[in-house]
Amino acid sequence: MHKATQEVYNAMLQKDPNQPELHQAVKVFLNSIDSVVADEPRIVYHKVLDRLIEPERTIIFRIPWIDDNGKLQINRGFRIQQNSSLGPYKGGLRFHPSVNLSILRFLAFEQVFKNSLTGLPMGGGKGGADFNPKGKSDNEIMKFCQSFMTELAKHIGSNTDVPAGDMGVGSREIGYLFGQYKRIQNEVTGVLTGKGVSFGGSLIRPEATGYGLIYMAQAVLKGEGDTLEGKKCLVSGTGNVAQFTVQKILQLGGKVLTMSDSNGVIIDEEGIDEDKLAYMMNLKNVKRGRISEYITRYPSAKYIARSGAEEYNELWNVKADCAFPCATQNEINEIDAQHIVKNGVKLVCEGANMPTNIEGQQIFKKAGILYVPGKAANAGGVAVSGLEMSQNSERLSWTKENVDEKLQQIMETIYNNISEAADTYSTHNNFTDGANIAGFLKVADAMIAQGYV
Ligand code: NDP
Repeated sequence: MHKATQEVYNAMLQKDPNQPELHQAVKVFLNSIDSVVADEPRIVYHKVLDRLIEPERTIIFRIPWIDDNGKLQINRGFRIQQNSSLGPYKGGLRFHPSVNLSILRFLAFEQVFKNSLTGLPMGGGKGGADFNPKGKSDNEIMKFCQSFMTELAKHIGSNTDVPAGDMGVGSREIGYLFGQYKRIQNEVTGVLTGKGVSFGGSLIRPEATGYGLIYMAQAVLKGEGDTLEGKKCLVSGTGNVAQFTVQKILQLGGKVLTMSDSNGVIIDEEGIDEDKLAYMMNLKNVKRGRISEYITRYPSAKYIARSGAEEYNELWNVKADCAFPCATQNEINEIDAQHIVKNGVKLVCEGANMPTNIEGQQIFKKAGILYVPGKAANAGGVAVSGLEMSQNSERLSWTKENVDEKLQQIMETIYNNISEAADTYSTHNNFTDGANIAGFLKVADAMIAQGYV
């Protein structure tokens, strides 16, 4: 990094020393844009770097709620309003015990560039709570969501900040959050996206991140004169993103060999087909069970239990053509990345946010893997959230086909923009640099135009 860029990075380390995920995201970003802002005439962009890292507003609050045993529970809630230069803050809410300021700040930082890449008028934000939804009754989930929204409602609005779902926050939680917002504000408005279709939600929003991810993979493969047809694919996770990633791969003639949850991994060499996916979706979305149950139904598959402390993940050590990490941050370390390369994978498209650690990313780069970072590859979710905001403003509901077509167009445009930025400022097919630079330039121009605010 050039001296001036390094100084920005060092200042952040000094100010926020205990935020490793934020450091990781900012480092990758600064490395990408460093050469762009080094010389005239673009040196002016340097002025926005410290403001890009510092959120416009950080809200941290207490969430008291009573569990089914009548016991008072306290969680910590957050909303990071990172950057509003392109539009209202927009980004998901995560309910997971690991949630802390570092994780949400990295997610909010990434969200700014992701939203910029979609071409829609959305700023960036992220929020959530250190609440563990696992094992909680429906009543407890509702009480928690209501208490969370009682505070969050003071800080959001359809023209200021429009949250959506993320890990642990699906349509059930968005429904409870929306109900409480409406009750407090006495206002029916598009303040959240990912809502149920009967009360303002967009068709294709549940599918959007996974479908968009595969549209991106399709665009990248097309650029190489290839398709997904017959490709063996590794998918991690069994949540929202993973499920619809698998569905779209199957629709396009690919074969899915793996899925996982936080307790273990399924390797099914015969392929996870439509029936098996339907079983998995019911298991996860309705029964809220564990992936280990899959082998009771499909005994020819292999289940490997994981504690999370292992040196590597067997899921990434399977021969395949494409890999789609769709679980969580840093799920691919350097050993996993080496396995992925050794096993012949040519394309890694990130459904999760920052699932590959810095060393893993370097291994992909060195091996010439087609690697698309989450901020570009998983932008389909927020893109359709943006379309949901438009539908809410119009008080109209677009058809499934219409939204899906728009999603495909947006993903193709993102691919074209990140490819072009890579070719202009970095090297061919360096989609990390392409995504960071293309996302950054638009935000930086808007920030400069709006003055020091
Ligand atoms: P879900 O909560 O629906 O699913 C998360 C999945 O990841 C679950 O299968 C979960 O397992 C698994 N998981 C969680 N933590 C770990 C861990 N430490 N090790 C292994 N597996 C783990 O979340 P989403 O599908 O919504 O989100 C997945 C990723 O995609 C996140 O990085 C999110 O930020 C990103 N993303 C999501 C978008 C969306 O629209 N939902 C949009 C863009 C990005 P278990 O069931 O055991 O908890």
